[in-house]
Amino acid sequence: MLVVTEEVCREVVGRDDAFTAVENVFAAMAKGDAYNFPVIREAIGYAEALYGFKSGFDRQGLALGLKSGGYWPGNSDKGLTNHQSTVFLFDPDTGQLRALVGGNYLTAVRTAAASAVSISHLAREDAKVLGMVGAGHQAAFQLRAAAEQRDFEKVVAWNLHPEMLDSLGDVAKDLGLPFDVKEREQLAAEADVIITITSAHEPLLMKQWIKPGTHIACMGTDTIGKQEIDPAVMAAAKVFTDEVAQSVTLGECQHAINEKLILKDDITPIGSVINGSAQGRSSAEDITVFDGTGVGLQDLAVAHVAANLAESLGKAQEISL
Ligand code: NAD
Repeated sequence: MLVVTEEVCREVVGRDDAFTAVENVFAAMAKGDAYNFPVIREAIGYAEALYGFKSGFDRQGLALGLKSGGYWPGNSDKGLTNHQSTVFLFDPDTGQLRALVGGNYLTAVRTAAASAVSISHLAREDAKVLGMVGAGHQAAFQLRAAAEQRDFEKVVAWNLHPEMLDSLGDVAKDLGLPFDVKEREQLAAEADVIITITSAHEPLLMKQWIKPGTHIACMGTDTIGKQEIDPAVMAAAKVFTDEVAQSVTLGECQHAINEKLILKDDITPIGSVINGSAQGRSSAEDITVFDGTGVGLQDLAVAHVAANLAESLGKAQEISL
């Protein structure tokens, strides 16, 4: 089997690779060619950790396996990333373990690729101002991937902990984009595309602040109880997601569903838009929302690319069990 380290993943998997892999797997999910197995996520009663598995099979891309890992809040004190994960890929023809792939960098690029795919398919073509709500580990990846989707001329940003915004500003500078820190209401008034990528448990953006035509990629809410936007936004918007089952239970839509502001049938898998079987934005005035909950198939898709590229470039270690 192959061992593909974090370092090799960083070397071989670029944003374009991740975008294509995630776009393809969303399309395969919508066609019924790929499906996620039930997610396991448990508080293990040790080190305050949350640990679990996300798994699935993509019959089209032939990616079978799981991502195992979770969240260890004490890791930052040890100089480690709090989110830790590893991907196991199996040969769908034999069931043999094919590759062990570091999952930390890949989680960030696949999450950024998901919101980038949503911007590519749902945002107005003439979007000029990108709004960033959040400035943690994922935010830099999100900003870089989003910046490639439209001719943005400026980034406006807000974060609960303002001291974290400097490093996001450095990313914008690196991309040649002016970067302004704003209050949330002002950010919403200026931004044509907004990415939320926080650990918030209450709405950060209110419906009355969102201007017509805005596209919002809600990327932070991946657990029951988390929340980033006013649920009333969902009722006013055309709503899309990676997977409807996750969106209504642990994604941003959980709140609008619980408050009966929208129905499950109001949420469209983005894969159907990619396949052309569902309409995306229908007018320049539509507010569109992408509820990016994060599915195991995204992890398998990018890990599959990492394993293939690492093998073909001679960068994977080969061992037998
Ligand atoms: P991080 O710990 O590096 O950063 C957390 C961010 O949330 C910071 O910007 C912080 O200021 C902000 N924040 C923390 N508490 C807040 C609060 N109460 N209100 C508003 N903002 C708050 O985390 P990260 O790795 O950047 O991840 C950000 C979020 O994205 C996490 O909630 C994580 O679980 C989620 N995530 C989602 C996916 C997905 O596929 N949807 C994938 C990876 C991470």
